[in-house]
Amino acid sequence: MKKTKRIYGRGANQCRRCGRKAGLVRKYGIYLCRQCFREIAPEMGFEKFS
Ligand SMILES: [Zn+2]
Repeated sequence: MKKTKRIYGRGANQCRRCGRKAGLVRKYGIYLCRQCFREIAPEMGFEKFS
């Protein structure tokens, strides 16, 4: 069997807050789904995101 030692799993291609894969935002290396992103965006200073 092949062992893939990659960073797959936590924070690879899914929301690291809720685990969703739909609508993932990886633009700023934050790896959050759009919902979580919109929730914490103001806290992170992304208020202008639209
Ligand atoms: Zn999320």
